[in-house]
Amino acid sequence: MGAVRQVGLVILGISFFTSIALFGHVPRLRSTPIGWVNRFMWSIFPRWLFYIDRRFTGGYIGPLISGVGNYLMNEKHPLIMAFYLTLVSGGLYMFVKDGWQYLSPVHRIFVPIVGTLPYITMYQAANSDPGFVTLENHERALRAYPYDHVNFRPGVICRTCHLRKPARSKHCSICKHCIAKHDHHCVWINNCVGQLNIRHFLCFLGATNVFLTYGVYLTFDILQNVFMLRALMPSNTPISSLPWSIYMHLLGIIIVEEIYIGAVFLLASLTGILSYAFTIYHLYLIWAGTTTNETIKWSDWQDDIKNGDILIAESDENSPAEDDEYDEDEICRHWPKRTTQLFYRQDPANVTELPRGFLWRRVESLREMDNVYDLGWSKNFKDVFWPQEL
Ligand SMILES: [Zn+2]
Ligand SMILES: [Zn+2]
Repeated sequence: MGAVRQVGLVILGISFFTSIALFGHVPRLRSTPIGWVNRFMWSIFPRWLFYIDRRFTGGYIGPLISGVGNYLMNEKHPLIMAFYLTLVSGGLYMFVKDGWQYLSPVHRIFVPIVGTLPYITMYQAANSDPGFVTLENHERALRAYPYDHVNFRPGVICRTCHLRKPARSKHCSICKHCIAKHDHHCVWINNCVGQLNIRHFLCFLGATNVFLTYGVYLTFDILQNVFMLRALMPSNTPISSLPWSIYMHLLGIIIVEEIYIGAVFLLASLTGILSYAFTIYHLYLIWAGTTTNETIKWSDWQDDIKNGDILIAESDENSPAEDDEYDEDEICRHWPKRTTQLFYRQDPANVTELPRGFLWRRVESLREMDNVYDLGWSKNFKDVFWPQEL
């Protein structure tokens, strides 16, 4: 039992810190202990290391670490993909080695099929075009979404690509390209997730979930039925009659006895929690008609609303406030949702007069602000799975 607890704690610890390192910067978690630990890992802890390095080795190791860190953080590299594939392949190997003999003929057909899903979907997601904005498709990219004048304004030029940024796009410093409807750069697929490939990314997440769920189901079934019924339990005692503590104790003994199957069971259940949480987060974003990139922008608005810095007014639909932006808005006429809201961000350090002719009031909640990209959940999902072509 001691060994199981140690293996379990190690896997749990690794999953926990990996999730904090990868997702702790999410705006919702920014001012929670998870956000603080994330900042400690990425900002405070490295500063301490550099300080120690300067103090004791004369700054010899610092540039070396920062060179490696810079490569890991800012360049395209398949290390995290390799880590994922090692876990999947290692898990499959351990399962087949000790578990195959217990499988019924139906599962012997399904295991190879489900076992290949993560490889196929990862390959597709990693090699798909996320929606690179190029000279050739620039006009089409501009026409895909209207500027909302909240998070995306017309006339902004990308300093690297030297092209006008389409609404919802973002320049990815790792892929070195502007990406249409940019969601995030995903280290698991070593590719950006954007307008054209978010469906492939979701398939990859879905396949990982199916793979892990099936793995938990099969390993648990083997551990429970084969071992518990044959070796440890009197055959006439129903498992459900056991007290919870004894049940967990027996499960612990079995996991140690069948160490490969037990390890796969623990690994699949703990990483499964992470994988499901990530999938649910992305489904929520689609339901809400937003992207990871836009969530960060909305979160900045939320901070300013809390400080009481945002004012709102309704404009007359036929006379846009900023005439020079009107032409660019004309480009995307097919989009069904418009807004007549105008916003003014007060700057306490630089007090200026409010634009005249509007009735300004303070915004109390983010809910008062229109999201023109949210067309309702069914159209939002359609836009993800059947994206506008570039
Ligand atoms: Zn760019
Ligand atoms: Zn990227």
